Amino acid sequence: AKVIIVGASHGGHESAIELLDKYDNVDVTIYEMGDFVSFMSCGMQLYLEDQVTDVNDVRNFRPEDITSKGGNIFNNHQVTAIDVDQKQVTVKDLKEGTEEQVAYDKLILSSGVTPKNLPVPGTDLENVYLMRGYDWATKIKAALTDDSIKNVAVVGSGYIGIEAAEVFAKKGKHVTLFDFIDRPLGNYLNHEMTEIIDKTLTDNGVQVEMSQSITAFKGDGKVASVETKKGSYPADLVIQAAGVQPNTEWLKGVVDLTDRGFINVDGYLRTNVPDIFAVGDAILPLSIPAGKPSPIALATTARREAQYVVNHIFEKKPTQIFKGVVGSSALHVFDEHFASTGVNEFTAERSNVEIVNSHYVDHIRPAYVPESEGNVRVDVDITFDPHTHIVLGGAVLSTCDLTAQGNVLALAVEHRLTLEDLAEADFFFQPGYDRQWSLINLAAQHALGYAR
Ligand code: FAD
Repeated sequence: AKVIIVGASHGGHESAIELLDKYDNVDVTIYEMGDFVSFMSCGMQLYLEDQVTDVNDVRNFRPEDITSKGGNIFNNHQVTAIDVDQKQVTVKDLKEGTEEQVAYDKLILSSGVTPKNLPVPGTDLENVYLMRGYDWATKIKAALTDDSIKNVAVVGSGYIGIEAAEVFAKKGKHVTLFDFIDRPLGNYLNHEMTEIIDKTLTDNGVQVEMSQSITAFKGDGKVASVETKKGSYPADLVIQAAGVQPNTEWLKGVVDLTDRGFINVDGYLRTNVPDIFAVGDAILPLSIPAGKPSPIALATTARREAQYVVNHIFEKKPTQIFKGVVGSSALHVFDEHFASTGVNEFTAERSNVEIVNSHYVDHIRPAYVPESEGNVRVDVDITFDPHTHIVLGGAVLSTCDLTAQGNVLALAVEHRLTLEDLAEADFFFQPGYDRQWSLINLAAQHALGYAR
């Protein structure tokens, strides 16, 4: 069987590797329109902060990783059309300008998304950047050491914008962080935790400008200011990290798309066209806690979707439905570390899911351990269904690294555990690490109203 994969990022890589490892006699070909194969944007911050040696190492795989297993990969090759009757794709060689028709038995789409320019004047000015992929990463890296850039405006306070703000602030630039929502990371964390994030950003010199609506970028050739409904802010560089566009223009009229251009898939990650599957950021996967398709654009979800597709791709009638994803992320914001999972106040409202959130504050270790020994404040959110007590989301935040506890909450959400389950769960105790009851036990007990 011949399988064609569109896009060589997380979804494309996982699909190819799984196909080559799991099946004999499968002819696997990846087409990637970019020049650099599989830049890992998740690793961009490490690169920008000089924690990796070479930009060419920040990738998911090298072409040899696929060809050595018998697969094929073509960079600078864009898939521009699908002929569903002939089961062929049109592939354009972007270097040569030539086109060919290539037959497929199965087609996996992992064409992802592209960050969007804001719909305001001035996005074409010099020094107005986006943040994704190899080319932008190298440009941002150069800007970090450009002394003529003093004021940096970051638009969008999701995790990508926060990464940008932190990187530039650490390089001594004056950073202004804008968002139209009212709190930084408001899509990821509930308000008690975003207050801590807001304070941390401010303490580290980032000017946090929330509830701001950008009206224009202004400058003479090069950007000089960001204009909002409230005022004008100097900016020698703008990083736009506010919104994405699925790379699906070329599928219009052939593959069903949502009104925002995401690929519509069924419970088996199949498109409306037989033998065409879609994974990754270009789809809206089923969110387990929300119970409906949701925008969860993560490498982790792309990989799970790709694995599922490959496992079932040759079944005549798939029986096992894709169970969905939880959506978990972790990040450090200067000295704070957080991990969040499932739904929160913001995403639950967007998905019309009824929730209650319980916010628990404690110290990580027994009271006799001094703060200087790492007995620091910890914040835990558990978000749950008020009727069934099923855990639908949660987050941990501290200056100590609690992110592994975030995965405990992620597992609880995936397996639909209740507050009662977490309150009693048999976790370890060792005073070098935690309290007599483990943090997640305590947070769940708190949510259930236990007095302690
Ligand atoms: P994409 O990564 O969007 O890649 C799609 C690929 O398809 C591109 O290479 C594109 O050139 C190619 N393509 C598109 N159309 C065509 C076509 N017609 N023909 C040929 N090729 C085509 N996720 C995490 O889980 N953890 C993190 O820490 C994390 N950090 C991130 C940090 C940053 C700065 C960014 C930008 C993202 C981060 N993500 C993270 C998200 C993660 O990168 C994405 O979820 C993931 O890359 C999605 O993979 P994908 O395969 O769907 O598509």
